[in-house]
Amino acid sequence: MAPRQVSIALTNVCDLHCRYCYAPKHNASLHTDQVLGWLKELDTGGCLGVGFGGGEPTLHPDFIDICKRVAQETQLAVTFTTHGHRLTPQLVERLKGSIHFARVSVDGVARTYEEQRGKQFSSLLRGIESVATLSPFGLNVVVNERTIGELDAISELAQKAGASELLLLPQRATTVVASVDAAVGLALRDWVVNYSGEVRLAVSEVGASGLPICDPLPEEQGLQAYAHIDASSMLRASSYSPAGIKIGDAGVLAVLERLRSTLEIQGEKQS
Ligand code: SF4
Repeated sequence: MAPRQVSIALTNVCDLHCRYCYAPKHNASLHTDQVLGWLKELDTGGCLGVGFGGGEPTLHPDFIDICKRVAQETQLAVTFTTHGHRLTPQLVERLKGSIHFARVSVDGVARTYEEQRGKQFSSLLRGIESVATLSPFGLNVVVNERTIGELDAISELAQKAGASELLLLPQRATTVVASVDAAVGLALRDWVVNYSGEVRLAVSEVGASGLPICDPLPEEQGLQAYAHIDASSMLRASSYSPAGIKIGDAGVLAVLERLRSTLEIQGEKQS
């Protein structure tokens, strides 16, 4: 019944202002009990893991409590994606034992990073050092015309820091930026084909086209694999998907079924 993995945007709030950010900008956050209720239901329905994001999930006032409770009260693997600047040793200490994997966004190195993210690179490095003491972790990189030339440096950083995965996220269009162009797409393909680093590469599903990938579960499609809940309680096929249904009193699995039917009908109409 449930997707293998869900992502939940705990809050839209973020203290950074990346140009390519796709998070909605209206003020919205989820309540702890609401999140726990959905995740218990999804756990029972066969879901294997949850990834908390946002906005910046560590800015949710109950972030630590939510992670602890999900780890204690469900069988789900708990992961989160962060910009890394709030990962103090104190925060990491409090999260220990409740996180199975963490992801830190690293869009370029040194000056490129600072121009892309508006934060000091040295502060990011401190965050990565902290997260390395928390759990296995990966680095995420938005691939665009600025970061494509820095993939070697980022993969070296990933290896040095002890990351177990480098997730490539080709930039997607927002109201402010365009998707990666063909030249960046080709350069990314070349880089991946010639990659000889030790850190495992991964790529977003929509960015995978043209890349040599290994899909371990080719039969798994759409909402069987993944669903997203945004900070306004809307269930979507992905964080970019315009179609969404508000999760009300009927619970998340009932809404999942409705969303499946809606998307099937839309697919039939398009074909
Ligand atoms: S850190 Fe993430 S959530 Fe915050 S503005 Fe940048 S892309 Fe958006």
